[in-house]
Amino acid sequence: MKPMALHIHEHEGITFSNIDPFEIHSLYVHIPFCTDRCSYCDFFSVPFANNSHICSLDYQISYVQAILLNFQNWSKLFRAGSFSTIYLGGGTPSVLDKQVLKKLIDRLEPHADRYCEWTIEANPESLDKALLDMLACTKVNRISLGIQTLSEEEWPILRRVGSIDDAIQAIELLCEYPFEISVDLLLGIPHIPHKGDKRHKGKSYILQSLEYLVSRVSHISIYDLTLEKGTLIESQVSSGEFAMLDEDELAEERRRIDIYLESQGFHRYEVSNYAKLGHECRHNAAYWKMEPYLGVGCGGVSTIQYPACENSQELGTILRITETKDINSYIQSPTEIPKDIEIIDRKTALFEFLMMGFRTSRGIDKKRITSLFGINLEECIPFTLKRWNSEIIRSGDLIALKPYNFDILNRFLIECLEELG
Ligand code: SF4
Repeated sequence: MKPMALHIHEHEGITFSNIDPFEIHSLYVHIPFCTDRCSYCDFFSVPFANNSHICSLDYQISYVQAILLNFQNWSKLFRAGSFSTIYLGGGTPSVLDKQVLKKLIDRLEPHADRYCEWTIEANPESLDKALLDMLACTKVNRISLGIQTLSEEEWPILRRVGSIDDAIQAIELLCEYPFEISVDLLLGIPHIPHKGDKRHKGKSYILQSLEYLVSRVSHISIYDLTLEKGTLIESQVSSGEFAMLDEDELAEERRRIDIYLESQGFHRYEVSNYAKLGHECRHNAAYWKMEPYLGVGCGGVSTIQYPACENSQELGTILRITETKDINSYIQSPTEIPKDIEIIDRKTALFEFLMMGFRTSRGIDKKRITSLFGINLEECIPFTLKRWNSEIIRSGDLIALKPYNFDILNRFLIECLEELG
C-alpha cells in the first residue's frame, strides 16, 4: 500500500496534501487497566477489579484484538515499522493475563527490528516468576517497574496497591533475569505536617530508596510529584492533612540526588531521568527528539510528522491523533478514525521541539530542525542563544544546556517562546 497521503475531509474540511510523512520507528501500546487508583494519579485508566467483566479473559482478548486491528490500520496508512523501540505502557500492562499478553507480544514481534528496545511497564505486585519466564522467551528486553518510593512513611500516602515487600521482592526477582531494569520514583511526596519539620535537613527518604536501587538497576526515572486536580492527594493537601515541600527544598533534594547518583555512575540525561552510560531509554529519547511515533490502544496517542517542503503549508506540521478513551467503543470500532485529531501548527511544533530537546543533556539537533521546519536555529532564536551563551554547550550539530543546568530550563524556554513571537 502506498504510504500515507491523508485526506480527512470529514474533520471540518481539513485536508492534507500528498506529502508523505516521516517514517515511524517507535510504537507505544497502551494497556489502561489498573487494579486501583493511586492517590496522586490522574492518568487515563480503567478499573481492573477482581470479578469485574473487564477482568474476564474474553474481555482482555477482545481488547488485545482491538489493539492489533488498530495497529494494522495505522501502520498501513502511515509509514510505520520496522520498530527500533516498542513500549507497552499503562495503566498496568502486567495485570493482563499472561497468555493474552503473550499473544499481543507474539503478534507485534515480526514488526520489531533486530536491535529493538522493547519495554514493558510493570507494577511490583503483579510481577512474578511466571510472567518473567514468559517475557524472557520474547523480544521484550526491558522492564520499567513502578516503585515510586521504598519509604514506609511515604508508601501509604501514595495508596499504591501492594507493599514495599512486594517492590523489594520484584526487584530481587528481576535481577535474576537478563532484562534491563528501570524504576520510577517520585520526588516531593507530601508529608504529614508538624511544627519545625526538619525532614529535608536529615537523610531524605528518596536517598534511602536510591541506596538500595543503584546496584540493582541501570535506569532511574525520578519525577516531581505534581498535584493534579481531582486527585485524592490534591484534596488531602488542600485540607492541610498533608504538606508539600517548598521549591527550595525540592531543588535541594534534586541536587543531592544528582550528586549521589553521579557518584554511583548514573548521569542525569534528561530533567527526570538518570542512567548508567549506554542504558538511556531509547524510546523516550524518540519523544524528546520529536521523532514520530505510533500510539495504539485505548487512549493511545500518535504523532505523525511531515517534512519541510518548499511552498508547502505543511512545513513542519505535526498531526497528533488520540484514540478514544471509551474502552467499549474502542473495542467495537478499533479502526475508526478518532475524533481527537489535532493539527499542530508550525510555530507550536517548533516550540515543542525546543522544549523537548532542551530537556535532555543531548540537546537539539540543528540539522533536524532544518529538515523539519526549514529553518536555522541560530537565526530563529539568536538573542536568546546569545544571552544564555555561557550556559550552553555546542558540539557539532548539537546544542544543549550545560550538564545539570536544568534549573534554568523554564526561564530559558520562556525567552525562546518570546523570541519566536
Ligand atoms: S498504577 Fe500507575 S497508572 Fe495506575 S493508578 Fe497507579 S500511577 Fe496511575
